[in-house]
Amino acid sequence: MPQHAEGFADNRDRFATADLATKAIHVGLDPDRETGAVVPPIYQTSTYQQDHIAEGRHGYEYGRMSNPTRDALQVSLAALEGGASALSFASGLAAEDALLRTLLQPGDTVVSGSDVYGGTHRLIAKIWGEWGVKSISTNLSDIDTARGVIEEVQPRLVWIETPTNPMMQISDIEALAEIAHSAGALVVVDNTFASPALQQPIALGADFVIHSTTKYLGGHSDVVGGAIISATDEYAERLWFTQYAIGAISAPFDAWLTLRGIKTLSVRVAQHSRNAQQLAEWLQTDPRIERVYYPGLPEHPGHEVAARQMHGGFGGMLSVALAGGEQAARDFAEGTELFVLGESLGGVESLINYPSDMTHASVKGTPLAIPLNVVRLSVGIESVDDLRADLAQALDRL
Ligand SMILES: *Cc1c(COP(=O)(O)O)cnc(C)c1O
Repeated sequence: MPQHAEGFADNRDRFATADLATKAIHVGLDPDRETGAVVPPIYQTSTYQQDHIAEGRHGYEYGRMSNPTRDALQVSLAALEGGASALSFASGLAAEDALLRTLLQPGDTVVSGSDVYGGTHRLIAKIWGEWGVKSISTNLSDIDTARGVIEEVQPRLVWIETPTNPMMQISDIEALAEIAHSAGALVVVDNTFASPALQQPIALGADFVIHSTTKYLGGHSDVVGGAIISATDEYAERLWFTQYAIGAISAPFDAWLTLRGIKTLSVRVAQHSRNAQQLAEWLQTDPRIERVYYPGLPEHPGHEVAARQMHGGFGGMLSVALAGGEQAARDFAEGTELFVLGESLGGVESLINYPSDMTHASVKGTPLAIPLNVVRLSVGIESVDDLRADLAQALDRL
């Protein structure tokens, strides 16, 4: 049951050796067996006719338990990340919560990077803290610091995000997985920023990959969702039971929208990366910009590790520190016309965000606070010339 109901035609074997671009278009998406419809239907149903009492047809009984559209998304996600199985949820945080519930006991410790997504920190520290889970934040991009902390606290879980949000720090997944595993910990990588098109943490030793599919996988800012991808089947049954018993599943239409987004993942992420790389190089030359945080720049302290573990680009996210301080950062964030001021990231349209008061307001005033002169850009796939012109006019207005 964990991966999909038994009636679902799992076609992953046929695409086992295919490239990611091909998998993204075909895995889980064979034409409909009844009609030949090239795009399988959205199974917008809550329940299924049973042939006999308590005998669902092909394993489909009730929508919270399984749905063919969600099954299609789940096998697609497993294939893209090179995992054994995947589960899709109503949001990234719902996926994270299900994973934490399944793996943790009171008294367990989670070590996470010091600038993980604010909502992840809030979930582990504030919600799970109430249930006796200890949360320790440390700089996982410094491998010696990370080793010291992991060996000392013997966590149950090490939670890695790379690149991080919004400071774009890079952590060495392979090295951290080795350290964590020898300390008896499981390794989770939040792969939302890179997406499987650029980085595949399971191949580097991660036990689980988490996604906010709201971002690059969905890719069009029109759906909220999340996923857990498991490297092996060891925890698959328990994770599925958590999903079923608690119920934060993705709805059929949301699963379908996410699948539709995934089909173009490769081309989108390639263009996001090209645009971001060009803007980062250009912004670096502007005296009004104090610093550009982008792992594709050779000056970035994590560039070498990023170049080793990311393939085909460094992603569409970059942050800048304004030389003029907090007010300049606020004016810059409010001064663009093409870049839309808003939360979220990873959609085709460019977004601009002032993390201190927006995405990262929950860590303001804590040691995890984001510098007040930092602005985050989610570089879209519009013409890079138009994007550059827009940033230039916003800088000129400072
Ligand atoms: C957005 C985001 C999340 C949370 O996902 P939701 O879909 O908003 O619940 C988790 N991690 C990262 C890196 C994110 O950007």
